[in-house]
Amino acid sequence: MSDTGRRALVIGGGVVGACTAYALERAGLRVTVVDKSRFGAACSHGNCGYICPSHVLPLAEPGAIGRTLKAMLKPNSPFRIKPRLDPALWRWLLCFARKCNERDVLASGRALHPLLESSLKLYRQMVDRERLECEWEERGLLFAYRSRAELDAYNRTNDLLAKQFHLPAEKWDGATLVAREPALRDDLAGGWFYADDAHLRPDLLMAGLRKLLESRGVQIRDGVEFRGFERDGSRVVSARCGGEAIPAEVFVLATGAWSPLLQQHLQCRLPIEPGKGYSLTMPRPRVCPRIPMIFPETRVAVTPFGSGYRLGSTMEFAGYDSTMNPARLQLLRAGAEPYLKEPYCDPVTEEWWGWRPMTYDSLPIIDHAPVAGNVYVAAGHSMLGLTLGAVTGQLIAELVTGQKPHIDLHPFRISRF
Ligand SMILES: Cc1cc2nc3c(=O)[nH]c(=O)nc-3n(C[C@H](O)[C@H](O)[C@H](O)COP(=O)(O)OP(=O)(O)OC[C@H]3O[C@@H](n4cnc5c(N)ncnc54)[C@H](O)[C@@H]3O)c2cc1C
Repeated sequence: MSDTGRRALVIGGGVVGACTAYALERAGLRVTVVDKSRFGAACSHGNCGYICPSHVLPLAEPGAIGRTLKAMLKPNSPFRIKPRLDPALWRWLLCFARKCNERDVLASGRALHPLLESSLKLYRQMVDRERLECEWEERGLLFAYRSRAELDAYNRTNDLLAKQFHLPAEKWDGATLVAREPALRDDLAGGWFYADDAHLRPDLLMAGLRKLLESRGVQIRDGVEFRGFERDGSRVVSARCGGEAIPAEVFVLATGAWSPLLQQHLQCRLPIEPGKGYSLTMPRPRVCPRIPMIFPETRVAVTPFGSGYRLGSTMEFAGYDSTMNPARLQLLRAGAEPYLKEPYCDPVTEEWWGWRPMTYDSLPIIDHAPVAGNVYVAAGHSMLGLTLGAVTGQLIAELVTGQKPHIDLHPFRISRF
């Protein structure tokens, strides 16, 4: 791939914007990244760090609506919708409800599968080629259960993943679980293990990408907010950012959960809701897990890093509410306690929240924008933005340089909404 020094402006410095800048620079473009806040400081900072091809099934699945309604009645549920009169939210929820059937689950899974597989490979190559210090490890991902009924209920999902996506998990009983992961308590029912997932430390990835991009001449400008485009005929020629107009030949909007606030500039609808999640980062406990793991019964995720340890998760649809809610953080501790010998280790070094850019079909948007042929959108990566960063950047670079995308982009087009 090589381009003749065209200028590209990437709007949004999260993992999606950073990987896009990386791929465009490698393709020969001269790249600038602007972020209204700080590169790498939003949702791509404190997430759980999983690069997880195992997560092929969307959030909208049969039974999800019943569980959501039940959860809405419980004040301390990990899944919460703050009731409010917001037509965009209710439209989103209705579309989500319509997707909760087996046919759509399979369709979303089939679309996500090649993206996930390709992204894992691209991350491996990037981390290796660029010597990125982000605590990359390939130790798999474990789902651990207290209840035998819940453990066995996953048989059905495992059969589906094995048959449709060649993604079988190993089923471990309670004894195997403790033998393979001694940080777990010995009274658990068992678990399911996906051997091929990887993980990294997201803040180190973002710091490493910044250093790498800047060393290659990419300009990264913090505190510069995109406010609209300027056109000349059918082309966009510059972006209004703060008080200046930044000229370029290619524009990529990678603004995560903020994207719907900018949709009028793209002349399309971007139905993305902020799905707020929390994390707690702390030193590694003395008995620290070796394998990253999720406890589906409490919906808490645990990530052991070389340099620390993180509890994360919860999902709250509360609009652009930017307050830190201590009760949500407490859910993370309470959700890890029943599973781990040492579920946490004080002092907490960071309490964090972030807005996942949630689409109702769990698929990202990777497409041209209707506003002009030289404007692209890379947004809506939902619960998998870290995992899908590398492949999204590569696909946008393929579109920009006029190559045939290495994955069919039809499922990720804007016109599906
Ligand atoms: C608790 C939690 C755990 C998670 N765990 C995982 C995981 O293990 N694996 C995984 O794959 N995903 C995970 N995710 C999801 C993942 O973090 C997100 O999908 C991903 O970070 C989204 O990246 P992004 O680049 O699209 O958005 P962001 O990182 O949010 O970046 C968007 C950027 O755009 C900027 N911006 C917005 N508007 C403008 C404007 N007008 N002008 C200029 N800049 C603008 C913002 O300031 C921001 O920096 C998790 C999320 C949460 C909350």
